[in-house]
Amino acid sequence: MDSTVQLMDPALPETRVEFGMARAEFAGMQAARAAAEQWSACADVLREARAYPEVYTGPGPVDAARVEFAVRAAAADLAVRLGVTEPVVRDQAARADVLIRRMPLLWAWFREGEIAASHMRVVADVITGMPDQVLSRFEAEVLERRGLPLPRFRAQVRLLAARLHPQELATRHEIAASKRAVWIESEPDGMALLITRMPETDAHRALAHVDHLARQAVTHPDEARTLAQIRADIVRDLVAGDLTAGTGVGVSVGVLIPVETLLGVAERPGTLDGVIPIDPDTARDLAGESAFWRRILTDPVSGTVLDYDRRSYRPPADLDRLIRTTHPVCDFPGCGRPSRTCDLDHTIAWQHGGTTSAANLRPLCRGHHRLKHETRWATDGTHWTSPTGHTTPGAKANDPPPF
Ligand SMILES: [Zn+2]
Repeated sequence: MDSTVQLMDPALPETRVEFGMARAEFAGMQAARAAAEQWSACADVLREARAYPEVYTGPGPVDAARVEFAVRAAAADLAVRLGVTEPVVRDQAARADVLIRRMPLLWAWFREGEIAASHMRVVADVITGMPDQVLSRFEAEVLERRGLPLPRFRAQVRLLAARLHPQELATRHEIAASKRAVWIESEPDGMALLITRMPETDAHRALAHVDHLARQAVTHPDEARTLAQIRADIVRDLVAGDLTAGTGVGVSVGVLIPVETLLGVAERPGTLDGVIPIDPDTARDLAGESAFWRRILTDPVSGTVLDYDRRSYRPPADLDRLIRTTHPVCDFPGCGRPSRTCDLDHTIAWQHGGTTSAANLRPLCRGHHRLKHETRWATDGTHWTSPTGHTTPGAKANDPPPF
């Protein structure tokens, strides 16, 4: 029997596997095409905002600050509609701008679905600042490698870029190194990642040091932890010091713990800063360590709801604390900045009769606070409306407090 006829027979597992492969490959091409379309659409929207800021800021004289606010309002509008963050929108737009302008051939392949979005990100990251005269050679070399798996593609593209403009590499490293930082990303089940951005050489040296200490510890006969666990514990000990001894730092994290849990009569979970669930045992332990953790007891029966209708502009300390606890993050849709770092904004402005009360105060991070005042983004306390009319619930309506 002819082998092509055999392959078309859906009763054969080989045929079904082949169909599955083709479907996955086709979907991959569609994803690349969709990414190209979304990136260039974001770039177009931000370009319109720059050219016609009045769409976002309302009528009035145009200066550089107003243009920047219009671009930010447009990025926030896209971010809310797409369910991504504003930096993601800006990155997509910036990539489309630089790639369409400097790598038109590569962009055409991307738009046809012949090169993946992940690969295009790598290229966009290295071509800013690359001299014009090496661009076409670089583009040809990149095109040849477009089918490589991502890690090899990334390594080769970075090497190519470094060879073609070596003096740029030092400048680029200097700019990148100025963005070193430490931050936390929450994970499920009470875990989190503590991430440090630092020069790669430093990162390797640091890990080698931690690994060396861990390998000494693991040889101890009583040691039950794995090497990976010991490494994590060593990093924690080196960085955090001894928290229980109260070598405390000036910042505190709110531990929200139901009263019955603290007394041990119920097992309701607590939270860190009102958003991150922690198990009852951990919550009780932390509530005992007053040096670092700020305890906030909640009573779900009496509710202890405080409210104010003060004739003062600044909220009193207990109202301030109540609002930041019941609204753990910035009220702007999709913004995750913790409310302890936010401004408290009068939803209805003080000069328009808005009261200093729990009903009329919402935490807004500095960026979204200014966006509300400088552009046509508006809120009624429960919903936000974008300058182009898209309405979406604020953070409170999406994320009710956990008690
Ligand atoms: Zn915000």
